[in-house]
Amino acid sequence: MELERLQEQMIKGLKRLGVKREVLEAMKKVPRHLFVPEDRKYEAYVDHPLPIGDGQTISAPHMVAMMCDLLEIKKGDKILEIGAGSGYHAAVMAELVGEAGMVYTVERFRKLADFASDNIRRAGYRNVKILVGDGSLGLPDFAPYDRINVTCAAPDIPPPLLEQLKVGGRMVIPIGKFLQELHVIEKREDTIHREIKGGVVFVPLVGEYGFRE
Ligand code: SAH
Repeated sequence: MELERLQEQMIKGLKRLGVKREVLEAMKKVPRHLFVPEDRKYEAYVDHPLPIGDGQTISAPHMVAMMCDLLEIKKGDKILEIGAGSGYHAAVMAELVGEAGMVYTVERFRKLADFASDNIRRAGYRNVKILVGDGSLGLPDFAPYDRINVTCAAPDIPPPLLEQLKVGGRMVIPIGKFLQELHVIEKREDTIHREIKGGVVFVPLVGEYGFRE
């Protein structure tokens, strides 16, 4: 009951920030407290990032909302996410794509992939698949994707991700090391269109087309 009230407050705060209705509806349905460590569940609906183990964090709710807004997700979309973490962002996107859509999310730490899988199962999502691997290589098996959501900061756009994005598709990706900015990429027939949305803070993308450990 208390958690429900806290969630309502979180949604009100996001609404004031101008988050779109579809994204607010999706975030209303996902029990964020199931995606944070048990002893942090009363902090789940506060608008800041939280530690989830292995030095990684679940992004703040406003960042999840903003990235979903920028992706312009539609029912039935096939989405690739890099950095499953807690699985929360994937769950919000699973609500947005609906039962006809699918979210594939890649995580480099097996322990976190297991954490995300447990959380996704407890929350009851069937349209999310979690895989362990280096997401800077994308996930060729299920390509091409309508949308790609990168939740860790890359040195630049990993070429495999651009390759695995559909023409007409969109990708949101934080780029930079100390100074990071959120880039929105639209893949067109022969070009890419890029818009930069301002400063952000993410853990690094570590991998072949990411930063080195
Ligand atoms: N989307 C997550 C937040 C993720 S934090 C959520 O909703 O909770 C970023 C994640 O990216 C971390 O879990 C980190 O381990 C992962 N990561 C970093 N480099 C990666 C890579 N090359 N491939 C896959 N995951 C990676």
